[in-house]
Amino acid sequence: MKYDVVISGGGPIGLFLACELRAHGVSTVVLERRSGIDPTLKAGGVSGRGADILTRRGIVDLLGPLPTIADLMGDRKPGGEGPRAGAARGSLPTGHFAGLWILRGGSSSSTALIFAQQQRVEEVLEKRAVELGVDVRRGHTVVGLDQDDSGVTVAVEGPRGPYDLHTEWLVGCDGGRSAVRKMAGFAFPGLDGVITGRQALADFDDPDFFPMGWHRTEHGLIARGPMPKRVFTVEFDGPPADRDAPITREEIQESVRRVTGTSVTITGMHSVTRFTDNTRQASTYRLGRVLLAGDAAHVHPPFGGQGLNLGLSDAVNLGWKLAASVHGWAPEGLLDTYSTERHPVAERVLHNTRAQVALMQPGPWVDALRDIFTALAETPEANRLLSDLMGALDVRYEASGDHPLAGQYCPDFTLKTSLGETRVKDLSRGGRGLLLDLADREDVRDAVRPWADRIEAVTGATETPSDAADAVLVRPDGYVAWAGEDVGGLREAVRRWFGEAPAAP
Ligand SMILES: Cc1cc2nc3c(=O)[nH]c(=O)nc-3n(C[C@H](O)[C@H](O)[C@H](O)COP(=O)(O)OP(=O)(O)OC[C@H]3O[C@@H](n4cnc5c(N)ncnc54)[C@H](O)[C@@H]3O)c2cc1C
Repeated sequence: MKYDVVISGGGPIGLFLACELRAHGVSTVVLERRSGIDPTLKAGGVSGRGADILTRRGIVDLLGPLPTIADLMGDRKPGGEGPRAGAARGSLPTGHFAGLWILRGGSSSSTALIFAQQQRVEEVLEKRAVELGVDVRRGHTVVGLDQDDSGVTVAVEGPRGPYDLHTEWLVGCDGGRSAVRKMAGFAFPGLDGVITGRQALADFDDPDFFPMGWHRTEHGLIARGPMPKRVFTVEFDGPPADRDAPITREEIQESVRRVTGTSVTITGMHSVTRFTDNTRQASTYRLGRVLLAGDAAHVHPPFGGQGLNLGLSDAVNLGWKLAASVHGWAPEGLLDTYSTERHPVAERVLHNTRAQVALMQPGPWVDALRDIFTALAETPEANRLLSDLMGALDVRYEASGDHPLAGQYCPDFTLKTSLGETRVKDLSRGGRGLLLDLADREDVRDAVRPWADRIEAVTGATETPSDAADAVLVRPDGYVAWAGEDVGGLREAVRRWFGEAPAAP
């Protein structure tokens, strides 16, 4: 079988992209070199727009019961600069910047942080992808590619030997060391790392050897919790000498001892990873018929938990545009907007993680800087700005017209329809475009009727006066393509994003 799209990498972003493509009827295969989900402890949650995306596609409902930040902190003793420090000043924070738990929420509404371990998210996404009809092949490694104007030939090493797959499009979702990125010749400029970070789930001979929470010491940074066994250290003495060397119990123990000045002993270790803070980004996310998404397109240290948010937002942006290209209705240049829209967003993440590394360094000069930074960040405007930055809540794409909603992520309006109340998030599950007809205007509904296969029109009233518009056109990724009253503007926006109307049957 010839697939429309081959995805290299079945991590969270490859699997989510596959779900998006299948929801649009695109035949998709995911090639994943691992035989099972990576058991290494990585993301402990999904934040910002990433949380909204998983909510709007109904993935959150599949994750099962999830703890809140308050559940995770429980009645643990206050410690360092962690969430309990925020609790003393009122409600629990929504996130941190450089280990300062000061964020109180951004300017636009967003789903609360989803506290699901990355493995659980991957499990659910894989199950969903398979249910939707994605061919997920584990134990299959992409080892070569060759593209021309008509398609891509992908060389694969499978459990039963090598084989080739011919496809229209190849997407590299194969992580920070992406083989697709290297083989296709994407430039990957940026800065080398200056730190060594380590994260583990470990048993300690003295579980109270150091307080829970985030702490800067004279020798680095340590974070403990929210799970009792989790420990995370950062040392500012250069990147790891050999990033591929196996990580031993002794290495983690020595790092914990150096940072804390204790002589604690690790008696058991369950998961471990090492990272640095190189910040690099592909200079474009598309070269011909090969695209990149997630960590394959950008790498940065995990401070502030932005990786999944960034990658899921790439995938939700790319999915419908690539599907439109496969189905032949993509307007001129639509697919290239993937790179032009998403590149600047990752650039900001790289930038803010560099700032976080600077603010986490040990020493009295940085102590002073943190004090002043904290005072500024606690002012409402600065706090909103930082929260927006960390959750990518203020991302705006170019859109038609000058209505304040145009280009923004569509708020989760409640609509009173003839069939009862519904919300934008409920209408977003299938991933089609949406036309919210808020003033019951037949001319507005007529304007999109020929695109019924791509745009669902819903008539209903909403009580959000600050965002008042007669109608709102929402792209499949949740961003407002147009809002306003003028049906001529609506028609123009529909063609710009959804192409020409299909021929009447
Ligand atoms: C210590 C740590 C903590 C983190 N904490 C957070 C957090 O709290 N919140 C957050 O949002 N993010 C966090 N992150 C970042 C997050 O884990 C990544 O951003 C995320 O895993 C990126 O997903 P991905 O699918 O792009 O890449 P990956 O998860 O790396 O998946 C890539 C997949 O491609 C496969 N692959 C590679 N090469 C090939 C090939 N040639 N052929 C076939 N398959 C291939 C790999 O086996 C892998 O399964 C953390 C990362 C680390 C290291």
